[in-house]
Amino acid sequence: MQRRPVVAAALAVVPALGHAYLRRWTRGVAWLALLVGSALTVAGLHDAGVAGAVAPGVVPGSWPDGGVAVALAVVLGMSVADAYVLARRQASPGEVTCPRCGRPVDLSIEFCWFCSVEFDYVEE
Ligand SMILES: [Zn+2]
Repeated sequence: MQRRPVVAAALAVVPALGHAYLRRWTRGVAWLALLVGSALTVAGLHDAGVAGAVAPGVVPGSWPDGGVAVALAVVLGMSVADAYVLARRQASPGEVTCPRCGRPVDLSIEFCWFCSVEFDYVEE
């Protein structure tokens, strides 16, 4: 099934959903973990009042309340871009991709270099 890059990017606004659409489960979970991790880190820095140590000039405890939202938006933006690029790579014509993991395959070997699935060649 051909997956459209725009759809993948739109779905990626919800963490991991765009990658699930592309069947890149591990990558989706990794993005989700990164998103949660960065949110907790920024929130933790905010609560601990160590913002001044991280960003000079910021008075401890005065980290903007939007800090967490900004961090989430940045990570989410990168996730969306990643989903879009992945989908484009999968959709690019002329390139043979692995039916299981979606990565480009080398047709001179009989298995996927990335996920080790074996290919059954169909003579045309
Ligand atoms: Zn594969």
